[in-house]
Amino acid sequence: MSRSVLVTGGNRGIGLAIARAFADAGDKVAVTYRSGEPPEGFSAVKCDITDPEQVEQAYKEVEERQGPVQVLVANAGVTRDQLLLRMSEEDFTSVLETNLTGTFRVVKRAAKGMLRARAGRIVLISSVVGLLGSAGQANYAASKAGLVGFARSLARELGSRNITCNVVAPGFVDTDMTRALSDEQREKIVGQVPLGRYASPEEIASSVRFLASEEAAYITGAVIPVDGGLGMGH
Ligand code: NDP
Repeated sequence: MSRSVLVTGGNRGIGLAIARAFADAGDKVAVTYRSGEPPEGFSAVKCDITDPEQVEQAYKEVEERQGPVQVLVANAGVTRDQLLLRMSEEDFTSVLETNLTGTFRVVKRAAKGMLRARAGRIVLISSVVGLLGSAGQANYAASKAGLVGFARSLARELGSRNITCNVVAPGFVDTDMTRALSDEQREKIVGQVPLGRYASPEEIASSVRFLASEEAAYITGAVIPVDGGLGMGH
């Protein structure tokens, strides 16, 4: 059965790999993009998730094209790394605004249709950093940890309506976000990963697709690490 899937930040990196995984499985996939060009081969809507009006407009367009969203993957996210004493209010609040409040916005809007349909799948992209912490990333880690409490609350609130809400916590993935790190930082990270390498975006996408599949119908409120063992035990 072809479902209506929406992936935020689906124009590159992990989001694009997730969009491809659903499209390859035969689903109708829409992606949001904030800047640049829309990705080829996908139904795309421009949307900055920090703007409530753009979120509403994006949903209207997606619903017209492919019906109410049945699977939402909240993937859009940013980093703005800085040590605590140098971290400005703006560094902190802008990351929270995108990663946590932005996710709240897109999830809330999707839940409207899912509650009506009495079915739905929500997957949030957190990070191993939200569970382990990371020096220089207090803003990012707080936002990603916040997603866990958010998802688990929704698992309780929406479960009786056959809506699952789960979190995927990737470790280090080879994308633009991690390409911004220095070679020295990358080497140090890889040295801490039991599998001794970065993940490919496709390796994150396959877990997301599983959580949205019929096989995962009884999984909700889970935090699935896809981190090569980096966060083991958390
Ligand atoms: P990228 O930086 O490659 O892509 C980020 C995506 O999010 C882009 O599509 C970007 O749009 C979009 N985005 C950012 N801000 C907004 C906004 N305000 N509104 C709408 N879209 C926005 O990151 P990755 O693919 O690496 O990361 C994807 C997700 O996975 C993020 O949530 C990230 O935190 C998480 N993650 C990544 C890890 C990694 O190692 N790469 C590890 C763990 C988690 P645009 O192209 O317009 O900038």
